[in-house]
Amino acid sequence: MSAKNENAARRRTHGHSTAADLKASAAPGPAPSSAFVEVPNSKQFYIGGKWVDAVGNAVIDVANPATEEKIAEVSIGNATDVDLAVAAARAAFPSFSRTTVDFRLKLLRRIAERYEARQDDLAKAITAEMGAPLQFSRDVQVKAALSHFRNAADTLQAYGWASTLGTTRVVREPIGVCGLITAWNWPLMLVTSKLAYALAAGCTTVLKPSEIAPLSNLILAQVLHDAGVSPGVFNLVNGDGPGVGHALCAHPDVDMISFTGSTRGGIEVAKTAAGTVKRVHQELGGKSANIILPDANLAEAVPAGVLRSYSNSGQGCLAPTRMLVHRSQLDEVIELARNAANTVVTGDPQDSQTRLGPLVSQAQYDRVQGYIQSGLDEGATLVAGGLGRPTGLKRGYYARPTVFAHVTPDMKISREEIFGPVLSILSYETEDEAIAIANDTVYGLAGYVHSGSLEHARSVAAQLRAGRIYINMAFNDMISPFGGYKQSGNGREYGVVGFEEFLEIKAILGYEAA
Ligand code: NDP
Repeated sequence: MSAKNENAARRRTHGHSTAADLKASAAPGPAPSSAFVEVPNSKQFYIGGKWVDAVGNAVIDVANPATEEKIAEVSIGNATDVDLAVAAARAAFPSFSRTTVDFRLKLLRRIAERYEARQDDLAKAITAEMGAPLQFSRDVQVKAALSHFRNAADTLQAYGWASTLGTTRVVREPIGVCGLITAWNWPLMLVTSKLAYALAAGCTTVLKPSEIAPLSNLILAQVLHDAGVSPGVFNLVNGDGPGVGHALCAHPDVDMISFTGSTRGGIEVAKTAAGTVKRVHQELGGKSANIILPDANLAEAVPAGVLRSYSNSGQGCLAPTRMLVHRSQLDEVIELARNAANTVVTGDPQDSQTRLGPLVSQAQYDRVQGYIQSGLDEGATLVAGGLGRPTGLKRGYYARPTVFAHVTPDMKISREEIFGPVLSILSYETEDEAIAIANDTVYGLAGYVHSGSLEHARSVAAQLRAGRIYINMAFNDMISPFGGYKQSGNGREYGVVGFEEFLEIKAILGYEAA
C-alpha cells in the first residue's frame, strides 16, 4: 500500500470504529512502549489566536510506529478551514509586518523560553508519532527545532533592511502570508526552520504539518499562544496534502508556500501555486554521496558514514546513502561497515540504548523491504541486515540496519531515495570517476568528503553539485545555508539566506536627490 493509500485507510468520519483498523493491534510482540502522549487540542485547529473546531467532521488516527497502536485522533481540515486560517493571517499581516525589530526579537525569545519549558512533552510527542528514539528526540530533534528560534532572532538583530544604490533606496519587506507545508521525519524542526524566520521577517503564517506526525505541532501551537503571538500571526490547520495542502497552495491570499517533502510533492505544490504566481520555496528529496578518498582515515570515516546514513532510522533527506570507496580499499571498507552496522541497537524507542527505532509506518516499512529485495535481485552483495524485522522484534515497523556492497550506479538502490536504514557501497578507480558517480543523480541536496588532507577534500567538495557538503563529517551547523541543487529544491533555509526567502525587495527610485 502506498503512504497515501495507507493514510486514506486510516482516515474516516468521526464516530466510526478505530482500533480495529490498525492491523497490528492484535499482533503478538513485546510489551508496548509507554509512549502515549496527551495532546488536548488534537481535534481542533489553531486559527486567529484560538483553538477552534474543524468545519467538517473527518478525523484520522495517529499511530505509534513502535507498537502499531492508535495514540490519538486528529481532525482533518478542508478548504473552508483553510479559508478561515488564511483570512486570519491576512487580517494580522498589516500590523504584524509593521512591528519593530525589537518587538519581534522579544517575541522570538519568549517563544524560545516557552518552548524550552515544554521540551520534554515535545520529545515524547515526536517519539510517539514517528518513532525516533526518545533520547534522539530529546537531544537532537527538539533541540535542533529550538535552535531556529534563537538563530532567527540573531539573524534579525544583525540584518540590514535597506541600502542605497545611486539615487535609489532598496528596502526589504516581509512577503506576506506564508503557507508552511512539512514532512513527518523531523516534524518540529522542519516547521521551525520556516516559522522562526517567517516571524522574524514580519510574515504571518498558516501551517499544515504532515498528517502522519501532527501531535508535536499541536503542542508547538500552544507554545506560541502562551508566548503571546498575536491572533492570526500563526495558524494551524491539520489535514492531508490533496485537501488542506492543495487549498493552501491554490489560495489567492497566500503570498508564498514554503514546502519540505518529496520531490513528487514539491512538483505538485509548484504546479498548484503557479496559478496565483506565488513564491514557492522547495526543500525536497536527496540521495547523497559520501566520497571516502584513499588518503582518509578509514577506521573513522567508514563507521561515521554508516551511522550517519542510519540517523533517524535512515529517514533523513541528508542521509549519505551512497558510500564511494577506492577499489583497492573495498575489502577493508566492507569489514568496517559490517562491524559498524552490527553494533547498531535497534528496538524500543523508549530504551536509552536504542539507536535505531522503527520506520514511521507500514507503508514506509514495505517500501524499504522492496528496496532491500531489489538490491538482492539486482546482484548487490548483502554485507549486513537484510529483509524482515531484526530478531526478537515481532511488531513495530522495524527494519534491519542494512549494508550492500558491489553496488553499481545503475542499480535502483543507488539511484532512488530509500528513506530507511539501507547503505550502498560503490567503488571507483579514479577521483574523477568518484565525482562523476556522486553527481550522477537527479538530486543535489548534500555531499560528504573524507580525506586526510583538508586541501584535497576542499578540491573535491568544489566539484560536487550539491547544496551542503560535509568535510570529514563536520558538525551540522544550524546557521549555514541548507538546501539543494537540481531536484532537491530551489531554496535555502537557515541564517540570513533562509531569512531573506521571506522578504520582498522594493526599489524606491528618486529616493535621494540626483
Ligand atoms: P510528501 O511529499 O509526501 O509530503 C510532504 C508534505 O506535503 C506533507 O505535509 C503532505 O501532506 C504534503 N503534500 C503532499 N502532496 C501535496 C500536494 N499535492 N499539495 C500540497 N501538499 C501536499 O513527503 P513525506 O512527508 O513523505 O516526507 C519525506 C520526503 O521529504 C523525502 O523525500 C525527504 O527527502 C523529504 N525531506 C526533505 C527535506 C529537505 O529539507 N530537503 C527534509 C525532510 C524531508 P500529507 O502527507 O499530510 O498528506
